[in-house]
Amino acid sequence: MRLETLAVHAGGEYDPETGAVTPPIHLATTFRHGPAAERIAGYEYQREGNPTNDRLRAAVAALEGAAQAITFASGMAAISTLLDTLRPGARLIIPDDCYAGLRLLAAEFLPERGVQVLRLDLTDLTTVGAACANGVDVIWAETPSNPMLKVCDIAALAELAHAHGALLVADNTFASPVLQQPLALGADIVMHSTTKYFGGHSDVLGGALAFAREDALYRAVAHRLHITGAVMAPFNAWLTLRGCRSLPARMALHCSNARALAQFLSVQPQVQAVHYPGLASHPAYALARRQMRDGGGMLSVQINGGREAALAVAGALQIFTNATSLGGCESLVEHRASVEGPAPVTPQNLLRVSVGLEHIDDLIGDFAQALAKA
Ligand SMILES: *Cc1c(COP(=O)(O)O)cnc(C)c1O
Repeated sequence: MRLETLAVHAGGEYDPETGAVTPPIHLATTFRHGPAAERIAGYEYQREGNPTNDRLRAAVAALEGAAQAITFASGMAAISTLLDTLRPGARLIIPDDCYAGLRLLAAEFLPERGVQVLRLDLTDLTTVGAACANGVDVIWAETPSNPMLKVCDIAALAELAHAHGALLVADNTFASPVLQQPLALGADIVMHSTTKYFGGHSDVLGGALAFAREDALYRAVAHRLHITGAVMAPFNAWLTLRGCRSLPARMALHCSNARALAQFLSVQPQVQAVHYPGLASHPAYALARRQMRDGGGMLSVQINGGREAALAVAGALQIFTNATSLGGCESLVEHRASVEGPAPVTPQNLLRVSVGLEHIDDLIGDFAQALAKA
């Protein structure tokens, strides 16, 4: 089956009790068992497993071409539960440009547990190769990356990781499985913040890991989640599963709107640079075309005139809401440096844009009037 068909049907078996076409939400925290804890229908306690969650897990696994998937209370819960399996002395390579939560986890919490973290430019395979020569356990890729939209070569990184006995994990949040399937390119695990495109409506937090193999690591992560408890609530699983149904259709419009907005912005005199993998000017355009089906719905734009000019544009936008997060129907804009705390790493003149599903003429018109005020 093709991806669009899987997105509509995966995890969507009719309810055997009623024939309901859409899945029931099972809110039960506990399930009847036999006197010696014999399971009757496979479930025991919600932290350990839940039928609504299992439907979403099946859908995520199907969309990523994975052997298994595990869902979590948030994207960060997925990341931290997986990285908690690293032992003291383990070496982890993360991208220099990546989701701020991973950067903070790597700076504040992983060193406490003796995990060595290297932040590298993953688009520079020579540097990554040299670092791997000193030992590596996990390479963590994020492509396209947040917020600079860097694109790294998943297949090449997987080869490098495997040559050194390491795993490649790919954060596929920005692309979604509609645009990019890292497991097919050799990655071992795909991570998602389902809060973003999977949910798609800015109303449900969640995370997922999709595993290429149903192996010891998969079982270790599932066990750790069972014990540590950052599980996805059934209602969240249900909403996210509903999001899956329209994911390919939404991604198509996110992509065409983002491409048109990126093209418009790239020729405006107030604009210093546009970062969008679907523009021929992107440094990894050829790789993006090979690795992704389209450029995605995220772009970043650097405004001439520095921080003040960027803030003026953000403040003048009327359809784009100033808010963090991404992947919803509504367009959002964010001055990343302002939300990064006391030591921002993102350029002060950069605005990150989550291009929504509004009419493209309205989106371009909004930027045109805002730029005119910068
Ligand atoms: C949002 C995000 C995360 C973290 O996910 P939460 O659901 O917010 O915990 C991780 N990676 C990327 C690329 C993200 O955009």
